[in-house]
Order: sequence, then C-alpha cells, then structure tokens
Amino acid sequence: MARIQIPRGTQDILPGAVEQWQYIEAKAREHFRCYNYREIRTPMFEHTELFQRGVGETTDIVEKEMYSVRNPRSEDQLTLRPENTAGVVRSYVENKMYGSPNQPTKLYYIGPMFRHERPQAGRLRQFTQIGAETFGSSDPAIDAEVIAMVFRFFEKMGLKGLRVDLNSVGTREDRARHRSYLLDFLNNVRSELCEDCQSRIDRNPLRVLDCKNEKCKALTKDAPSLLAYLSEESAAHFAAVQRYLTDLGIPFVVDNRLVRGLDYYTLTAFEIKMAEIGAVETLCGGGRYNGLVAELGGDDMPGIGFAFGVERLLLALEKQGIQLPVEEGIDCYLVLQTSEAKAQAFRLLDELRQAGISAEMDYLDRKMKAQLKAADRLSARFTAIIGEAELANGTVVLKEMATGEQREIPAGELVQAIRGH
Ligand code: ATP
Ligand code: MG
Repeated sequence: MARIQIPRGTQDILPGAVEQWQYIEAKAREHFRCYNYREIRTPMFEHTELFQRGVGETTDIVEKEMYSVRNPRSEDQLTLRPENTAGVVRSYVENKMYGSPNQPTKLYYIGPMFRHERPQAGRLRQFTQIGAETFGSSDPAIDAEVIAMVFRFFEKMGLKGLRVDLNSVGTREDRARHRSYLLDFLNNVRSELCEDCQSRIDRNPLRVLDCKNEKCKALTKDAPSLLAYLSEESAAHFAAVQRYLTDLGIPFVVDNRLVRGLDYYTLTAFEIKMAEIGAVETLCGGGRYNGLVAELGGDDMPGIGFAFGVERLLLALEKQGIQLPVEEGIDCYLVLQTSEAKAQAFRLLDELRQAGISAEMDYLDRKMKAQLKAADRLSARFTAIIGEAELANGTVVLKEMATGEQREIPAGELVQAIRGH
C-alpha cells in the first residue's frame, strides 16, 4: 500500500518536542493570569463572512489564504480560522460579555490557525497562535499593558535582543486626512511599484507601506507619514503609550510604516521582532481595533490585542540556543528479577500511580539487564528492584539513579520513600 504523508505546511509534534509546547502553554497561562486574563476557546471554524468582515476583504489572509468549505448538506459557507481576533470578537458580542461586571474584558486563547501560504521555516499552513484581546477600555495604559504582557512573556522564555516596533495608524478620520497626500505620492511612483502594490493603491493605499518588496520599500521611503496627520487626541494617546512603555523600561522604536491597514484598526499598532528567525523576523503582531466590535454587530466597544506564533517562538529560542527547562523522565521503574514478582510489581505500579508518581515496568519479557537499560533510557529517577528474596520478604531494593545510593525497604513504604526525595 502506498504511504500517505502529512499535508504540506503541517507538522507532527512528537514526544520529546511536545514537552516544549506544554511548557510554553503552561507558562503563558500562568503569565496571563498575572495580568488578570481568562482563557476563551472558540470554534476552529466560523462562518466565512466573519473573516471577510473581521479580517477584511483586502487583506492577504482573506484574498489568498483562507481554507473555506461549503457543507454540501446545508448552505453554510465555513472557513477554518486563519486568526482568532474575529472569533473572539464574535463570541464577545454573542455572549454579551460587555455586560459583565468585570471590565475591561480580558481574554486569551491558545490554538491552531490555518492559512494557505507557501510553507517555509516559520511559515506553516497549520500553526499555533497564543493571543489575547482586551475589550472596553481606550486607556493608553491598556495598550502599554498588552504590549508589556507579551514582551515580558518573551523575556521570561529567555529571549534577548527583542524590539518592539510601534506606530499609530490614527483613527478613520486621521487616515482620511492623510489619504489624499499619500495617494498623490503613490500615484507618482505607481508604475515602478510591484503589481500587488499597484492594486493596493486603489483598494487600501496604506497597505503599500507594509509591502515587503525591497524596491517598493525604497520607493515609498519618503511617503507622507500618517503620524503627521494625527488629531491632537490621537497624538496624545500615542505619546501616552510611549510614556508608559518607557516607564516600564520596554524598548521600542517608532516605525511609521508599520500598518494594520483596515478601517477598524485604530491608533496603536505594534510588532515584536528579533534578528531573523527562519524566513521571518516578526514574532508577534498586535494593535487596537476600536471599530471592529461594531463592524461585527456589537456596540461600539474599543478593543486591543496581539497574537504570536508558537512555532516562531520555538525557532527564536532555538536560534538563541535557549533550552526550556522541561521535565522529562519518569519517577520510578520497577525492575523484576523473576517473573514471579510480576503480580506484586503490577500492584505496586498501581499504588505509585495513584499517589501521583510516574512509574513504569517491563512488558516485553526483558532480562533484568535490559530492564535496567530501559529504566535508563526513560531517565527514571529511581529503580525499584524486586527479586526472589524481596518477593519473599515483601520488600524492594530502591536505588536512586543519580547517586547510586540503594537500600532495601518494605514495599508498602515505596511511595513514601520516593515522595520523601
Ligand atoms: P507575516 O507578515 O509574517 O505574514 P502576519 O501579519 O500574517 O505575519 P499576523 O496575522 O499578525 O501575521 O499573525 C501574528 C503572528 O502569528 C505572526 O507574528 C507569527 O508569529 C504568527 N504567524 C502568522 N502566520 C503564520 C504562519 N503561516 N505560520 C506560522 N506562524 C504564523
Ligand atoms: Mg501573513
């Protein structure tokens, strides 16, 4: 039979690697709890329209990257979520979370996202995002808190040399003021821009500033900056975010080309970067979206959030030579010198496990020497050997592998002895 292979752009996370994932997820949960965030889990697919409206028709995601299906037995047009802000906003509105006495509403999520992209290092078709969203506050301190939360998390993971790129994309009104100047500028260089950018000029000109093409970057180097067109209020918000970040000692640079080019993105936009990881350098993207909740049918509530990819975080850690302190190995391996001891060992194994001690024994009829080797391969902290004499006396020989120290103890005291260490 022909072998069936894993789909392109996806990966199996096998034991040995999965511990790192569990570590990151557990640390993220712990970290976000310190900032009073609660977890939310939304479906992995949503109505396609949610992303069309919530991510935006002119984005790469909606134009090129969505996995959509029509259920043949109903009219539903569904899409595997390419990101989760839209889903969280939908849920926030649908579950009337704005009515909760706990405000602002602070939510985080961890889960797989799906985008049909050209796979390369740090770019997959199924990848995992950890992200957070806050609703109900326009306070610039919340912007700084959100940025600080993810920045501190990366610091906790041990990453060095991180940089926050910060910008304000203003309000809808600010952008309207800026637009005609930007269009004048872009139309002058139009024919020299890449094809994508030429079409962006007509549909969403701010996006041209976000083009990764070196030639486009150079051509638009002196494009009029949106920052010069911010209202007093927007400028004050941006200044306050910067002050708070400075107070916390979070390093940032203002990058007036950083855009989230959709109508409902407002004010703060940011990315967290590191020297090139794989084919990319951005670890995390985020920003304010004060118009999005209303766009998705809710009351006009402000929101802000971020998301980062776990795969990219792992690449970054690898690149910096950082080993996460993951726990591996089991607590105790029961070694049988005689097959007569099997029933006794099997009961002991159950006892250890009920006490929360990870334990294993041989199920392959291996000789004692091979059992010890198996214990070693599992990095067992202890072995408990049961031979004929021990079986007769109701004892085991407990050996601590790190020190080689060993002593005979009553089988009934095994749990205690291991716990005591
Ligand atoms: P890029 O410019 O790298 O395509 P993006 O703007 O599409 O990024 P966002 O939608 O802001 O990315 O997603 C936030 C984060 O999610 C990224 O910074 C990255 O860590 C991660 N991410 C996005 N797309 C992928 C992908 N295809 N594979 C792995 N991680 C991804
Ligand atoms: Mg992308």
